[in-house]
Amino acid sequence: MTSSSVFSAFSALAPYGWDEAWADEFAPYDTEGLLPGRVIRVDRGQCDVVTAGGVVRADTAFVTPHDPMRVVCTGDWVALEPGGNPRYVRAYLPRRTAFVRSTSSKRSEGQILAANVDHAIVAVSLAVELDLGRIERFLALAWESGAQPLVVLTKADLVPDAVTRAHLVQDVELSAPGVTVLPVSALGGDGLDVLVALVSGGTSVLLGQSGAGKSTLANALVGAEVMEVRAARDVDGKGRHTTTTRNLLALPGGGVLIDTPGLRGVGLWDAETGVGQVFAEIEDLAERCRFHDCAHEAEPGCAVLGAIASGELAERRLDSYRKLIRENQWIVAKTDARARAELRRDWKRRGAEGKAAMEAKRGRWR
Ligand code: GDP
Ligand code: ZN
Repeated sequence: MTSSSVFSAFSALAPYGWDEAWADEFAPYDTEGLLPGRVIRVDRGQCDVVTAGGVVRADTAFVTPHDPMRVVCTGDWVALEPGGNPRYVRAYLPRRTAFVRSTSSKRSEGQILAANVDHAIVAVSLAVELDLGRIERFLALAWESGAQPLVVLTKADLVPDAVTRAHLVQDVELSAPGVTVLPVSALGGDGLDVLVALVSGGTSVLLGQSGAGKSTLANALVGAEVMEVRAARDVDGKGRHTTTTRNLLALPGGGVLIDTPGLRGVGLWDAETGVGQVFAEIEDLAERCRFHDCAHEAEPGCAVLGAIASGELAERRLDSYRKLIRENQWIVAKTDARARAELRRDWKRRGAEGKAAMEAKRGRWR
């Protein structure tokens, strides 16, 4: 890039997350005369890309292989042809992180939902009873993507008592090692400034159950000004007004928000590493079990069961961990026949062992 085009790319794209590392990755495409841009929306083979010169529509035919994990998605940085009708996306830069959903179809394949996300904000409503298991599920997904999770306890105005609020924060913190837990009220404004500062340093997504307060939080982060921009009507080539919906927005306080409808009902997808991170203390304990392949069920010298007996570890945490591991194995198995066969063998073995254990118990009690 010439020094002036480097400068214009930096000043125009920095609000969208462009940095020196991206510029380095982009260097070979720059020598080919391609332009950098970030995908703000994808639909039916086309995508909207924000470039130094504004938003352009581009065709993804060159970068749409059959592998659904490898299609361009919102948040990708791309190398775009400088002109042409249609304009083509020639390549996308290697992703730093990726959110992937397991599809509900029988031919289960991952579907890429968002790329290059730094912060995964898990919205949890304080208006209803905390469901720690559900929070753990979202956290596993967030860790697996490579993004840093953050739990926002929304509607904090509904818990005005400071002591009660602190207890709720603590409950969630115990289920979320290594994760900041922040009570926020979009209505009253409590905690919003902290959240604005936290998300200012990268790209964020909002996860959480319907009704958790994600849209309200997005509006608070984006602010009325940008929301108007989002709803702005562009005039297309035929002189008609069309509403462009951006799934990626530069925030007025710094940082970027990706809010795609598809991200909201995400399921787990091959989140084994993520599960380990959510349950870091259990994995730490497991290293002290006598047997390397301890299942923490009835093995002698099991440090995990020891910690439950001593009250150091809540039994609920272990149950939740098992449930997530099982669910994750199931999703992986859906795609992999060999894993499926192994799983079936494993279940049979466990069934037989379980029966033997039950009989032994009965024998002991007789
Ligand atoms: P979403 O489904 O996760 O996008 O949730 P919404 O943002 O639509 O919020 C669900 C409901 O919670 C709406 O009725 C909001 O008005 C309400 N809500 C959201 N944030 C707050 C808050 O900070 N305080 C209170 N009291 N209610 C809130
Ligand atoms: Zn064990």
